[in-house]
Amino acid sequence: MTRYNAWNVFKNGLTGQKGWDRAWRDPEPRSEYDVIIVGAGLHGLATAYYLAKEHGLKNVAVVEKGWLGGGNAGRNTTIVRSNYMLPGNRQFYEKSLSLWENLTNELNYNVMFSQRAHITLLHSPAARDAAARRYNTMRNTGSDGELWDLAKLKKEVPHLNYNNSRFPIMGAAVQPRAGNARHDAVAWGYARGADMQGVDILQNREVTAIKRENGRVTGVETSRGFIKGKKVALAVAGNSSRLWQMAGFNTLPIETHKLQAFVSEPLKPLLDQVVVFGVGHAHFYISQSDKGGMVFGGDIDWYKSYAQRGNLPLVQDVAECAVSMMPCIGRVRLLRHWSGVMDMSMDGSPFICKTPIDNLYLNAGWNYGGFKASPASGWYFSDLIANDRPDPVIAGHTLDRFQRGYIIDERGAGPDPKLHG
Ligand SMILES: Cc1cc2nc3c(=O)[nH]c(=O)nc-3n(C[C@H](O)[C@H](O)[C@H](O)COP(=O)(O)OP(=O)(O)OC[C@H]3O[C@@H](n4cnc5c(N)ncnc54)[C@H](O)[C@@H]3O)c2cc1C
Repeated sequence: MTRYNAWNVFKNGLTGQKGWDRAWRDPEPRSEYDVIIVGAGLHGLATAYYLAKEHGLKNVAVVEKGWLGGGNAGRNTTIVRSNYMLPGNRQFYEKSLSLWENLTNELNYNVMFSQRAHITLLHSPAARDAAARRYNTMRNTGSDGELWDLAKLKKEVPHLNYNNSRFPIMGAAVQPRAGNARHDAVAWGYARGADMQGVDILQNREVTAIKRENGRVTGVETSRGFIKGKKVALAVAGNSSRLWQMAGFNTLPIETHKLQAFVSEPLKPLLDQVVVFGVGHAHFYISQSDKGGMVFGGDIDWYKSYAQRGNLPLVQDVAECAVSMMPCIGRVRLLRHWSGVMDMSMDGSPFICKTPIDNLYLNAGWNYGGFKASPASGWYFSDLIANDRPDPVIAGHTLDRFQRGYIIDERGAGPDPKLHG
C-alpha cells in the first residue's frame, strides 16, 4: 500500500496521480472468520483495526449493509471532547482523546483533528457550580479544563449574543484539548488501516439473521449468503435493537431516535472554537468547518424512528437557538441538513460488553457522543473480543447495570433518552 507522505504526493503530482493504490479491497468472503463485526461505522472499523494491530487477529470481517461510513459515522457534527466526570466514562473518554491526539500518525491518514477548544456556555450560578465540580474533577484526574469569566469569553468568542436577557451568558466551561475532526476521514483511515492488515470489509451485505447452534453463534446470514464466524460482534449504532432481536433477544435499554445536523454556506473565518449552549430543552452546538460552513445541531427529533431523515420543526427549533445565541448568522443561508439514527441508552452511557451468548459481543448506546468515542471504543471492544474479559475501564458498561442499580448517569437525567446527549 502506498504510504501517504509529502514525497509521494509530490511524485504523484508529477506523474499523473497514477501511483496510488486503492485504499481498501472489495473481497469475497472467506470460508470462516475468527471474528465477524457487523457494521462498518467508526466503531466497527476501529474495532477491526485494533483487533488486527493490537491483538494479532487478522482473520476478521466487517459486514456492512450499505457503504462504509455511510451511517452516523458520516453524519455527525464531529465534536471531540472528554469532559466527563463519572468513573468509567471519565477514563474511557480521556483514553479516546489521547488516541485522537495521535490518530493521524497512527493511521497514516489525515483525520484533520483540530484541538480548537470546546466551550460550554454557562447561564446561571447553578450551572457554573456544576461545571466547577465537573471541570475540577477532570483536572484532578489528569484531563484539562478551565472556567472562563465573561471578560475572557468575550475576548475569545466575540460574536455571541451577550445582551440576551432570557439566556444571559455568565462565563464558560472550557476544554482546550477538545475540538473536532473530519468524520469521513476517520472512517476511511480506520478502513484503510484495517484492510492493510488483512481485514475483509464486506460492503453491500445486510445481515438478516444471526445463526445460533447449541447456545453459540455460528455466523451471520446476509443478503448475499451465509458467513461463518467463531465470534460475532455487533456495532450497528441506531440499528442495535434490530440486530439484538435477530440474535433471539427481546429488548435493549436503548431507543432509536433521529438527530439532525446542519451546514451553512461557507463564510470567512468567524468562529474558532466549538461552542455549546444548553438550558433545559434548548440545546445548540456550533463550529466552523475548514471549508467555512457553519456546522451546527440541536436536540433529537422527539420521536423514535429508524428513518435517516429529519423534519421541519427541528429546523425551526435549531434555527431559533442559532439566532438567539449568534444573531450575526441570522441571514446566512442553510446549505444542507440531514439526519442520523441514534442509539440512545437509558442513562446516556454506552454498552461495551459480553452478552448472554458466549461468543456474541455488543457495542452500542452511543447517544450523541459516539464520534469522539470511536478510537477508545475500538480499543476496548477489540480487547474484550480478543481476551474475552472486559478491561477495568469498561467493566461498568454492561447491560445488567440497570438491574444491579449501577447506572452511569452522567447528566443525572434519569431514564429519559431525550435528555441525554
Ligand atoms: C447529526 C448527528 C450529529 C452527531 N454529532 C456528534 C458529535 O458532534 N460528536 C460525537 O461524538 N458524536 C456525534 N454523533 C454521534 C455519532 O455520530 C455516533 O454515535 C457514532 O457515529 C455511532 O457509531 P458508528 O460510527 O459505529 O455508527 P454508524 O456509522 O451508524 O455505523 C453503524 C453501521 O451499521 C450498519 N448496519 C446497520 N444494520 C446493519 C445490518 N443489518 N447489517 C449490516 N450492517 C448494518 C449501518 O449501515 C452503519 O454503517 C452525532 C450523530 C448524528 C446523527
